[in-house]
Amino acid sequence: MIDVIGIGLGPFNLSLAALLTKTPAISSQFFEQKPCFNWHKNMILPHTTLQVPFLADLVSLIDPTSPFSFLNYLHCHQRLLKFYFLEDFEIFRQEYNHYCQWVVGQLSGLNFSAMVTETKAIDGGYQVTVCQNQKMQTFTAKNLVIATGSTPVLPPFLQDIATKAPKRCMHTANYATHFDVDTIARNDRLAKVLIIGSGQSAAEVFRALFEQQLDEAGKPKFAIDWRTRSSGFFPMEYSKLGLEHFSPAYTDYFHSLPTSTKSQLIARQDLLHKGMSVVTISDIYQKLYERSVGNQPTFATLMANCALKAVKLNEDQPTTINVTLHQQEQNQTIHCDYDCVIAGTGYQEGLPDCLSPLLFDIECDDLGQPVVNRNYTLNVLNDPKTAVGSGHIFVQNQETHSHGVGSGDLGLGAYRAGCVVNQLAGRAIYDTKGLDIFQQFGMAK
Ligand SMILES: Cc1cc2nc3c(=O)[nH]c(=O)nc-3n(C[C@H](O)[C@H](O)[C@H](O)COP(=O)(O)OP(=O)(O)OC[C@H]3O[C@@H](n4cnc5c(N)ncnc54)[C@H](O)[C@@H]3O)c2cc1C
Repeated sequence: MIDVIGIGLGPFNLSLAALLTKTPAISSQFFEQKPCFNWHKNMILPHTTLQVPFLADLVSLIDPTSPFSFLNYLHCHQRLLKFYFLEDFEIFRQEYNHYCQWVVGQLSGLNFSAMVTETKAIDGGYQVTVCQNQKMQTFTAKNLVIATGSTPVLPPFLQDIATKAPKRCMHTANYATHFDVDTIARNDRLAKVLIIGSGQSAAEVFRALFEQQLDEAGKPKFAIDWRTRSSGFFPMEYSKLGLEHFSPAYTDYFHSLPTSTKSQLIARQDLLHKGMSVVTISDIYQKLYERSVGNQPTFATLMANCALKAVKLNEDQPTTINVTLHQQEQNQTIHCDYDCVIAGTGYQEGLPDCLSPLLFDIECDDLGQPVVNRNYTLNVLNDPKTAVGSGHIFVQNQETHSHGVGSGDLGLGAYRAGCVVNQLAGRAIYDTKGLDIFQQFGMAK
């Protein structure tokens, strides 16, 4: 039986795999269902950058001396001086992905095209069933680390249409592979695209569509309507003191609050992690302004306070989607036809299906959410604890409800993975106390 199995290989378990290289005595295997590491590949669009500084790489904030740092990646690729002159902390998403792939290439025990289909408790640990190349295999480990990410969420009335007509109705998570200008082109009128939502993904898709909207003669290939039910196209909170919510200190504070206070707080903290970046808004504004010079049409409209209420697929030729939109403050409803609907309607945390056989044994709070301890372990009733550093199920990025807004933030990923390594080792391999901030959250008890 090995020490730990990681399920999923996005940035968070990759960070754990990189940090575990300092403790060769801890044996590990990681399983990822995709054929290779490719971070949100459908959203690696032109100009897109991380929304956190490059120091939020896989290791630096917990171990700046690690050979797996972004700076060492640049050094190994002879790009350090270019990056130095670039003077930009927010690296391109494409480069972050390439950096992660470089780390993947140096680690052992990472298995791709390997989907975990089932987990179950056994004496002294867990058994994991993996489907790799259509072959089922089982592995056993004392501990599990679940880092299976979040799932794109479509409003229920869009789900059926997205299945029936995936090139006409899609989540932004599928944008790069599903959107196709030729599919939506029409002879009788200008094709129309509707974008829903006002988060970063919706904004990036708007910008990408805007940039490919005109043909060589300057004629539009389609029109874009961008709608959000939010009260405005607002930026994400990005003040220095606001950013301190993404810290171990805030995590400590949040974790200590009662469950009901936590759920109210999360509902009020949307703009800490769900709005658009100021830079993207400014970029979009510039593009609109430039196109409108001489009062030329922009072929794009924007409206907030406008909720998508219903959709109907008209399967005539050519296919259209009849959409009902409601302006909430005017209490006014309109119906219109679109040739494509792209929903930037977010992502949802949730334990993966492969954990189902264990779910009955996982303790839940009053709101039915899994209890996640401060050290990122689930409370497994009748758990197979045998000794220090064994018998745990850790979660990474499944704990917004218990640990606060930092759960999905890349900036806290290395810190959390460092906490997991310490727990597995039963001693402090990484210094998890060093990430101090200026403000105090709550009064000392
Ligand atoms: C487009 C986009 C941009 C983002 N940009 C930023 C940013 O700039 N800064 C920031 O702080 N945060 C950002 N985030 C949020 C967050 O950091 C990322 O979502 C990040 O990828 C989360 O990492 P993860 O490891 O939890 O999940 P993921 O990256 O989603 O990886 C989880 C992996 O688990 C695999 N998996 C799932 N189930 C199984 C199974 N049963 N068996 C095997 N494998 C499985 C999946 O295939 C997937 O590859 C962004 C999110 C999105 C969607």
